[in-house]
Amino acid sequence: MSTRVASAGSALLGVYRHPPQIMVEGRGGALVDEGGRRYLDFTSGIGVNALGYDVPEIRSAVEEALERGLVHTSNLFRTRPAEALAELLVELSFPGRVFFCNSGAEAGEAAFKFARRWARTWGGEEKHEVVALRGSFHGRLFGTLAATDRPAYRAPFEPLMPGVRFVDPDEPGALDAAVDPDRTAAVIAEPVQGESGVRVLPAGFLDRARQLCSARDAALIFDEVQCGLGRTGDLFAHQASGVTPDLLLLAKPLAGGLPMGAVIVSEAVAEAVRPGDHATTFGGGPLVASVARAVVRRLSDPSFLDGVRARGSLVGSVLKDWPDALSRVREVRGRGLMWGVEIEEDTGAVVDAARERGLLVVSAGPRVVRLLPPLSLEAESLERGLGILREVLE
Ligand SMILES: *Cc1c(COP(=O)(O)O)cnc(C)c1O
Repeated sequence: MSTRVASAGSALLGVYRHPPQIMVEGRGGALVDEGGRRYLDFTSGIGVNALGYDVPEIRSAVEEALERGLVHTSNLFRTRPAEALAELLVELSFPGRVFFCNSGAEAGEAAFKFARRWARTWGGEEKHEVVALRGSFHGRLFGTLAATDRPAYRAPFEPLMPGVRFVDPDEPGALDAAVDPDRTAAVIAEPVQGESGVRVLPAGFLDRARQLCSARDAALIFDEVQCGLGRTGDLFAHQASGVTPDLLLLAKPLAGGLPMGAVIVSEAVAEAVRPGDHATTFGGGPLVASVARAVVRRLSDPSFLDGVRARGSLVGSVLKDWPDALSRVREVRGRGLMWGVEIEEDTGAVVDAARERGLLVVSAGPRVVRLLPPLSLEAESLERGLGILREVLE
């Protein structure tokens, strides 16, 4: 029986099924509950706490920002932290401009607006459609939910944003057939799909998407909210494929746990966007931007990324035997420190049993146990966590 309860005894709206523990502290790679029990955390707040808990760089960035008394100014005014962060992100990715917002879904919504704005500079009213992929997840707002391939998330809230077509990335020719020069404004893809069970899209698929978008004047959007910023061992997941998008979405780990999203927009798309086309009250405030700059500097450090790759292959080499060795494991997939263990049954009992043994993991779809440890977690803790999960699966 699952011990998860829908916010029992809590004034929180019941949209989550919580385990009963109340978490009170974070230390390194571990969360600590009210009873003083430590849990090795392979969820990292769903890929957010890439540097773990209680991070000195984050603490000093917060303190420095607070010393100036500047948490928020709104976007009525320019501030140095936002401009410096935008410059850093562009330097690390591709020539363009950056729009800051407050979450992954907001980044997706903004990207759809920018892509339409740009597509309409040569297309007509018709050129507004989005092509998304089977297995995708882009957020829970009306535009991003429309581009998310999860019937259970969508059905109760329809109608969503119209004009989204889904293609199966494994079906040859499906993308070619869906990208229409007169109708398609954007193609959106996660280079490594996260929520649907950790699926690495083949480089050839991303390359074909790039060719089609360039030939048919559609914007290529890569959603790296989960797989970006070091998670796969490259700073950006798409770098392994050599394909550059027109818009790149970032969020989860960007500001070290403070809410922040970003859209990096190519120069060509940026030229189509005018003052007033989009806005946000909070996006890119000086406190979050200062923290994000410290986080991105650390995540983009080549020796840090080397470490992620090395520990990622360690995890991969442990996991690769599981489908043969453990009868409940069907398949393992992943790259860097983003892995999915597909099992033969619902993941609920496995997630609960792992927690009882001191390991936190999160499911990705009904059958996949997802591992998103902090990118800074040392090899020994990774091996310990994998050991616990293996025991549970045995
Ligand atoms: C989590 C996620 C989002 C949504 O981010 P929120 O901050 O929860 O709105 C979008 N895209 C991907 C790939 C994600 O993993």
